Amino acid sequence: MMDNYGTPSLVLERGEGAHVWDADGNRYVDLLTGLAVNALGHAHPAIVEAVSTQIAKLGHTGNLYVNEPALKLAERLLDIAGEPGKVFFCNSGAEANEAALKMARLTGRTKVVSTIGGFHGRTMGALTLTGQEPKRAPFAPLVPGVSHIPFGDVAALEAAIDDDTAAFIVEPIQGEQGVMVPPAGYLQEARRITAEHGALFILDEVQTGIGRLGTWFAFQQAGIVPDVMTLAKGIGGGLPLGATIGFGAAAELFKPGHHGTTYGGNPVCCAAGLAVLDTIASEGLLEHVSSVGKEIAAGVEALHHPAISGVRGAGLLLGITLREAVSAKAAAAAQKAGYLINPIQPDVLRLAPPLVLEESDAQAFVAALPTFFEETP
Ligand SMILES: *Cc1c(COP(=O)(O)O)cnc(C)c1O
Repeated sequence: MMDNYGTPSLVLERGEGAHVWDADGNRYVDLLTGLAVNALGHAHPAIVEAVSTQIAKLGHTGNLYVNEPALKLAERLLDIAGEPGKVFFCNSGAEANEAALKMARLTGRTKVVSTIGGFHGRTMGALTLTGQEPKRAPFAPLVPGVSHIPFGDVAALEAAIDDDTAAFIVEPIQGEQGVMVPPAGYLQEARRITAEHGALFILDEVQTGIGRLGTWFAFQQAGIVPDVMTLAKGIGGGLPLGATIGFGAAAELFKPGHHGTTYGGNPVCCAAGLAVLDTIASEGLLEHVSSVGKEIAAGVEALHHPAISGVRGAGLLLGITLREAVSAKAAAAAQKAGYLINPIQPDVLRLAPPLVLEESDAQAFVAALPTFFEETP
């Protein structure tokens, strides 16, 4: 394999619920879940059943034909979003954002505004939207017309968006930047300003969507509706699945021939997606995410540990902020102790556990956390 990921620290072999085992038989509590992907944890019976049944029935159709799992999933997504709209299925977060960017071009305008620190994927269009210079610089020149403004800054938004702006894209919480939470009211102001100028408001819920913050989608907590929402990660419960959803007039931007992807709406992936949504609803996981997330945050705060300066985020997307740049060492110590956590910034540890994380695992993690900062001889 190419060296683009550097040297991985583990070979994982199997998983069950929030636990994974490496090739040497060591067990870990997986507080990262393949980067916020395995919403129901590993080997959830509902996903195993849905995928096994579907692959035995019809594994792929291509997009000249349609299949029932894709239709059902589109309906379910609009149902839980609570808004009329239309769905385009793809395979990843980057691809969902590529579709959103192409939709923005179909407004007839070319200016797109994104945020500094935002992460929207690694393909050329998505990378252009991504506001992290080290990831972009080696690949310039990127797609023209995209600018980046400070995240959470309403004045910058007012200044950047005008009647020539096609779209503003933002994450409700910047996940890859270290779980950055914008000031209260930011998404509402973004909705107002984009509407005033007739620009699309694209909300990238690839990481925050599908229950991770304790509601189906983050926009529902903000009490707004974006024009376009992008999804991936948790939606497939571990299978590659992404979606771009247009609400209202934005649902009509794509016409036949404008866009496509061979695996989009793959029945096996969509069957997995349906199992994810059904299980979140039937097992009351939205409430569970809120309560376990609060418990972890309160537990970490209550440690009053000298290495820890705070906790931010919502639901089960949490950033533990550190007083010094020791996250890599702490994550390595955590791994040795049987916990997979993510040193997303030198001074931030990210948690994105499965939505099914049990309280006992959450409590054990909080209790073990101080030991990750101890100097080992
Ligand atoms: C991970 C992520 C992406 C990219 O998703 P891929 O499936 O890796 O292409 C895009 N946006 C956000 C907010 C993400 O967290």
